[in-house]
Amino acid sequence: MKLLLLLVVVLVGVWLWRSSRAHGPRRQGKAEPKQPVATPLDMVQCAHCGVHLPQSESHQGKLGRYCSADHLALAEH
Ligand SMILES: [Zn+2]
Repeated sequence: MKLLLLLVVVLVGVWLWRSSRAHGPRRQGKAEPKQPVATPLDMVQCAHCGVHLPQSESHQGKLGRYCSADHLALAEH
């Protein structure tokens, strides 16, 4: 009976240790990426044709952003 009690205590100890390890990094990961996860992709609208596209793929012009260099040229030249 003493052995069984010892086994239970060890198992509970291991379970607590594992759950505290599992929850620890998850809390840190949740607190860390506040900006990147909130806006994974900034969508912008072409000032010429109105199509939506990721900001990284857009062309910056003087009057706005465009879906392609062609529309930048058409709108600003
Ligand atoms: Zn366009």
